[in-house]
Amino acid sequence: MTAESPFKLTYATMFNPPETLHQRFESALSQAKATLGKEYAMLIDGKDRFAAEKFEDRTPIDTDVVLGIFQKGTAQDALDAVAAAKKAFPAWSHTPWQERVALMRKAAALIDERIFEIGAAMALEVGKNRMESLGDVAETADLIRYACDQMEANNGFVKEMGRDPLEGFLSTNVSVLRPYGVWVVISPFNFPAALTGGPLGAALVAGNTVVFKPATDTSWVPRLLAECLRDAGLPDGAYNFVTGPGSSIGQALIDAPDVAGITFTGSFDVGMGIYRKYAMGNWVRPIILELGGKNPAIVSRNADLDTAATGIVRSAFGLQGQKCSACSRIFVEAPVYKDLLDRVVTLTNKLTIGDPTDRAITFGPVINKSGYRDYQTFSAELAAAGEVVTGGKILTEGALSKGYFCAPTVVTDLPLDQRLWKYEMFLPITCVTPVSDLEEAMKISNDVAYGLTAGFYGAEEEAEWFFDKIEAGVSYVNRPQGASTGAWPGFQPFGGWKGSGASGKNAGGPYYLQLYMREQSRTVVRKLK
Ligand code: NAP
Ligand code: MG
Repeated sequence: MTAESPFKLTYATMFNPPETLHQRFESALSQAKATLGKEYAMLIDGKDRFAAEKFEDRTPIDTDVVLGIFQKGTAQDALDAVAAAKKAFPAWSHTPWQERVALMRKAAALIDERIFEIGAAMALEVGKNRMESLGDVAETADLIRYACDQMEANNGFVKEMGRDPLEGFLSTNVSVLRPYGVWVVISPFNFPAALTGGPLGAALVAGNTVVFKPATDTSWVPRLLAECLRDAGLPDGAYNFVTGPGSSIGQALIDAPDVAGITFTGSFDVGMGIYRKYAMGNWVRPIILELGGKNPAIVSRNADLDTAATGIVRSAFGLQGQKCSACSRIFVEAPVYKDLLDRVVTLTNKLTIGDPTDRAITFGPVINKSGYRDYQTFSAELAAAGEVVTGGKILTEGALSKGYFCAPTVVTDLPLDQRLWKYEMFLPITCVTPVSDLEEAMKISNDVAYGLTAGFYGAEEEAEWFFDKIEAGVSYVNRPQGASTGAWPGFQPFGGWKGSGASGKNAGGPYYLQLYMREQSRTVVRKLK
């Protein structure tokens, strides 16, 4: 990852990083802290754009601390950004793909170069621990490079087809994939780098121009990404960064008639609302939706219980349960239920909770006041309906009182018809139940509207059964790094089935870049003399 060390940072290797990584993170963190409270503009047509109204971005670690001041963009800013992207499209789409790839590789290299700066901002802004923050940034660069590699491996998606026979004529047929036009990217708070940079990277490599709007809670990290695109030398208007509320500027982007395609990553309800509204356009336009999850882990009586508990706790409580891939349902074969539960509770109680920029801390705050309130409401509901074995309380001792800290929570004895078994809470809460056999576990696992990720722990002979039956876009067997979390581009393509995703093709995989292009078949017929 760096010149001095061959260490490759991924979500699987982040548990044991070299010492230099910590030192460099710490120095970047001090630098970030020295510039807190700065104002950041939107970037439209290559220029900083300010709005009349602003909003403060505060850290969930300590709500007294203002990280930056951001622009509350308006519907007009959205339309201007779309117009700038439309104006830039002819030149960008006709730039030879090799040049686009070269520029995007330069952007990826700048993201790598600035990994500590962006990672420190991320830890402060999201409340994500330092290794996960650095992982999110490294993933972003890898997602962009993966799109570049795919473009190259497919030779720009120009494919010669068969020659249809016609007496006295020679016919040449070619299939070409071409970009659509202006592509909008709307991203969620939890992976503000990867889920902004991944989709916009693919869209740009494919030859589209983009407008991107991050979550209001996390506008800083995407601004730093926009600067990487600018500094890499992307042409003005090819990338446009806007900020402000989803309900106003976000909606204006969805409604803009000149938008040719959208990638939305976020909650099921918001995504489905966007999907329906977007369908009111004059014709059918592509929309890639990456939505929520309610991801199960199934533990067989043949499982290695230490591995299972390690993977489950990492996936249930990594980023405080606020991953779309978080493990929120655990089904355990009755003979090993108690042993597994004991291990899960023991490991949960060992999590170090506090300021996630600190190297000793793995578990930080939840993102905002609404998540903090939801946690308290859900905890009360779960305590009444089942048993809270550990957690269930907000944490307010000492410095924790200034942020949105919630204890990691394990719930048992929750009747299977209780509504929260099927509801994505998106908080550090996971529910565990015994099952009589694996078939029962599979039936309950699949009986939800979601189908994002899933994990299985058991004998290797059981793996094929699990893969075949589970309704999920990402599936893992016997993985200690995470039961349901921790995908990496080029290794585990990431996307959801059913209510978790619309395209049926996964990001960071071989079929993703094509979603950003439309096919043109080109036939030329020459009369033979
Ligand atoms: P969210 O509330 O749905 O917001 C996502 C984005 O949509 C934000 O940028 C938001 O802006 C914007 N938005 C809201 N209303 C809009 C509208 N009417 N028109 C256009 N944009 C609008 O999600 P979140 O709380 O940030 O993220 C958590 C959710 O994302 C979870 O459900 C999680 O499972 C899902 N997620 C899915 C994946 C995946 O790959 N499948 C990955 C990560 C997260 P504001 O912030 O300004 O409201
Ligand atoms: Mg904030």
